[in-house]
Amino acid sequence: MNDNADVLDAAVVGAGWAGLGVSYWLARKGLRHTVLERGHIGETWRTQRWDAFHMNSPNVQTVMPGDRYEGKDPEGVLTRDRFVALLEDFAGRNGLPVETDTAVSELVQENGTYRLNTSHGALRARNVILASGNLNRAVRPVSSDALPPDIHQIDASGYRCAADLPGGRCWLSEAVNQARRSRRNWGKRAERSSSRPAASGGSQGVIAGATS
Ligand SMILES: Cc1cc2nc3c(=O)[nH]c(=O)nc-3n(C[C@H](O)[C@H](O)[C@H](O)COP(=O)(O)OP(=O)(O)OC[C@H]3O[C@@H](n4cnc5c(N)ncnc54)[C@H](O)[C@@H]3O)c2cc1C
Repeated sequence: MNDNADVLDAAVVGAGWAGLGVSYWLARKGLRHTVLERGHIGETWRTQRWDAFHMNSPNVQTVMPGDRYEGKDPEGVLTRDRFVALLEDFAGRNGLPVETDTAVSELVQENGTYRLNTSHGALRARNVILASGNLNRAVRPVSSDALPPDIHQIDASGYRCAADLPGGRCWLSEAVNQARRSRRNWGKRAERSSSRPAASGGSQGVIAGATS
């Protein structure tokens, strides 16, 4: 990629299932585009889910554009790894133009097109689809700052398995998978949550994280 590259019809930021789904339709329309992904396909599912993670949406709904669920377990749920495999298979089978390890750092409107500055240089596109997800920044309840230092805190995105937690009881303070909740509401809920009696004795693992 360089500054003189041709102007693409579209650039998609993010290769989760939104970005891959958009890419599928752009390809079907014959539009020249690229999907820029800072990590690997399905990066947030690889790096922000715990080891024993299973989806909460059933198999029959976990279907990419153009596909149909034809398995024998429509009400079952995929593990993290099987969902990542589904995304990779979809991108490969449809020949989607995904550029992995390519983080977009800046988007500038210039002369009627967009310039995207990435970790591998700049490119231009007439349209940009931001499919970068809503889980890019961990946010803790404001009250977490006031917790004693012997309470171990981790974000939900950093949790992998119970064995990694220090001994003692575990208090799940808050975990959401919705974006755009205001910090003020967060604070109010956190105050309510922290008014519960704390478990006593030993250190407590507190999973306080969420994402904005
Ligand atoms: C614990 C948890 C469980 C969930 N379970 C389910 C479920 O069972 N079913 C369900 O439907 N939804 C579930 N969700 C919600 C799920 O996250 C969304 O449905 C889905 O991931 C959104 O897809 P997406 O493609 O919009 O975003 P993402 O999957 O987050 O993809 C965004 C992509 O953009 C990339 N990216 C971000 N910034 C940049 C950048 N600057 N440059 C380049 N690339 C970038 C990221 O690396 C990532 O790969 C869950 C969420 C959480 C937190």
